[in-house]
Amino acid sequence: MNEFSWALLKGLIPYFIVLLVVGIIGVILARLKYLAKTKINQKIASIKTDGGICPQCGGKLIMRNGKYGSFIGCSNFPKCRYTQK
Ligand SMILES: [Zn+2]
Repeated sequence: MNEFSWALLKGLIPYFIVLLVVGIIGVILARLKYLAKTKINQKIASIKTDGGICPQCGGKLIMRNGKYGSFIGCSNFPKCRYTQK
């Protein structure tokens, strides 16, 4: 009886390994997906809010697109023309 169950277990080991590997890969992929998503979200959030505060009027500094590319400018434009390079 003991011999039999050991043989059965031995036969099942490859399936366990496959399940384990598939499970681990699934977890890693999910984790990577989650990390990539949060990183992108953080980047978007930092672009939107990382400009800080305008030293001239206290308004928010935001990303703007101008003639020569994107730059950080005051959200109170055109009242305030402060820009950051
Ligand atoms: Zn300003």
